[in-house]
Amino acid sequence: MQLDSKAPGGPLAEKWDRHRFEMKLVNPANKRKYNIIVVGTGLAGGSASATLAELGYSIKTFCIQDSPRRAHSIAAQGGINAAKNYPNDGDSIWRLFYDTIKGGDFRSREANTYRLAQVSDNIIDQCVAQGVPFARDYGGLLANRSFGGAQVSRTFYCRGQTGQQLLLGAYSSLSRQIAEGKVKMFPRREMVELVLINGKAKGIVARNLITGEFESHDADAVVLATGGYGNVYYLSTNATSCNVGAAFRAYKKGAFFANPCYTQIHPTCIPHSGEYQSKLTLMSESLRNDGRVWVPKNAGDKRRPNDIPESGRDYYLERKYPSFGNLAPRDIASRNAKEMCDEGRGVGPTGYAVYLDFKEAIERDGIEIVRKKYGNLFDMYENIIDDNPYETPMMIYPASHYTMGGLWVDYNLMSNIEGLFVLGEANFSDHGANRLGASALMQGLADGYFIIPYTIGGYLAGTEPSEYNADHTAFNDATREADERIKKLLAIKGKRTVDNIHRDLGHIMWEYCRMARNEEGLTKALKLTRDLREEFWQNALVPGADRDYNLSLQKAGRVADCLEFAELMITDALAREESCGGHFREEYKTEEGEAKRDDENFCHIAAWEYGGYGKAPIFHKEPLAFENVELSQRSYK
Ligand SMILES: Cc1cc2nc3c(=O)[nH]c(=O)nc-3n(C[C@H](O)[C@H](O)[C@H](O)COP(=O)(O)OP(=O)(O)OC[C@H]3O[C@@H](n4cnc5c(N)ncnc54)[C@H](O)[C@@H]3O)c2cc1C
Repeated sequence: MQLDSKAPGGPLAEKWDRHRFEMKLVNPANKRKYNIIVVGTGLAGGSASATLAELGYSIKTFCIQDSPRRAHSIAAQGGINAAKNYPNDGDSIWRLFYDTIKGGDFRSREANTYRLAQVSDNIIDQCVAQGVPFARDYGGLLANRSFGGAQVSRTFYCRGQTGQQLLLGAYSSLSRQIAEGKVKMFPRREMVELVLINGKAKGIVARNLITGEFESHDADAVVLATGGYGNVYYLSTNATSCNVGAAFRAYKKGAFFANPCYTQIHPTCIPHSGEYQSKLTLMSESLRNDGRVWVPKNAGDKRRPNDIPESGRDYYLERKYPSFGNLAPRDIASRNAKEMCDEGRGVGPTGYAVYLDFKEAIERDGIEIVRKKYGNLFDMYENIIDDNPYETPMMIYPASHYTMGGLWVDYNLMSNIEGLFVLGEANFSDHGANRLGASALMQGLADGYFIIPYTIGGYLAGTEPSEYNADHTAFNDATREADERIKKLLAIKGKRTVDNIHRDLGHIMWEYCRMARNEEGLTKALKLTRDLREEFWQNALVPGADRDYNLSLQKAGRVADCLEFAELMITDALAREESCGGHFREEYKTEEGEAKRDDENFCHIAAWEYGGYGKAPIFHKEPLAFENVELSQRSYK
């Protein structure tokens, strides 16, 4: 199948303006006749629901949590990028675009990535107008700090709680629309099926998580903003409720899944401490503005960090990447941390950690300045590790954090299923093979506040408001499918808890499909995940009833999806015989050990079509064309 990105022609900087002009509009009086379902209330879904309702559409919004403002976006710490150039340090839309496309190792669409940089400034204005309390400098302008992969300061932040403040902004706008009756909010609902009528997305079936009942909801278009799939690794920095379920349901109904092997392993997380841990904690990348990363020069040096003199320390990021130093992008910083530990130079009780040291910053700026910038993160670290990071260097290690892959979308953020739009981390769109820090919040809000309001109008303007309703047979069929799946889970009556099986899946994925992968390991992982999937369906323990509040059943459904989805990730990682960004295939590296792309054979988006249960997925590709930037070996030296 030929995948059409629908990216408009013309000069890069004019594409979005031109496209907005050329798209058809829905008359203001007609907007209320169109029903739109938005699944997800994180930054992408929350901003989309509020904005679409403000425009006049009739919106139904769904989320798993008890309140829209408990979506995982609330956990985001470090900041959000925008090309405002307030510090006057050489930033521009073009530079943000270039940094993002280079950061993603030239595996994203030029037109999408440029548009993201273009609307970034509007996001900051919108959020300030909502009252988001961004940090300010001495003159009152919004303050900025630096994030990885950039040599300018363009990250706007609210201490270490940027996601929370941004989400409160979006949530306030959403609440206003709920109060006006333009958004009908359905919390504690899990979308369990996408409903297609004549090949178009026309609704969803949701499970009420309190009563266990199914509910059918029809619409003229469905927007998925359901987040990423980082929890396939079991241990990750994501909220434990993050899951791939909604995207996977859409995939099984024909939506293509793009680049599933592109996952981000974040370099600065609190190291794993034991088998019974269910979650990992991020230490924001902003800490690398002032913290210096190091390991002992000699393998096996077990001295306490403060007893190791300067001459015994290797500040390996500063040594290997002098231009970017500690702010090397995440994929590179993570891979290097792993290499140091593999060489036996890792620290801490397990040997799987490196130091992040603030001694120099504290001596230079004083403890109060450091506390003002990062106090809540330092407190969090001390609460978890019981060590004072103002006095002893932090210990950090990479962990699963973000997923660049997602449902395939065109320039309008519409999937290959007509009427199904995908926003935020759930789509694959703008970050290529590696996302730069502080760009996920930017993308989620760009999609929700500034892109979908135009492009969904362009789609609806060419569509009559639906005459279908939730009594249509398609809804009955979808409900039956969901019900059968749930009954099958409850009928297993096995012996192993779902968490236990999920943990095993995490071990397999972490061992063979994380920031460094190779053919032998991936082939082994494919077999191991298939065996584990078989075991799940024979031996999982799913207690309780279906028409009830049943957390074990919720988890079981999500883990069943993860088990199948893991195979898709591995298949994609095996098929991409090159290294790019977070996908580092050990067979393909430069003499200096850096990722080696194969632009001749792999300069494309891999989009996978569901091939049936237990069958191989079908491969499609969208070639990537670069008209404005030159493909080059990515270097941060
Ligand atoms: C600890 C941490 C810190 C981070 N810090 C930063 C940062 O500083 N800067 C940055 O740019 N990025 C950061 N990120 C990444 C960023 O937070 C996420 O990529 C982003 O918030 C995702 O937003 P989203 O709206 O796409 O999805 P989410 O916020 O994950 O929201 C998903 C929504 O979908 C709903 N949902 C999911 N499945 C279903 C279903 N089946 N049915 C119904 N509802 C469903 C959920 O209930 C939720 O409402 C961080 C990530 C983590 C884990």
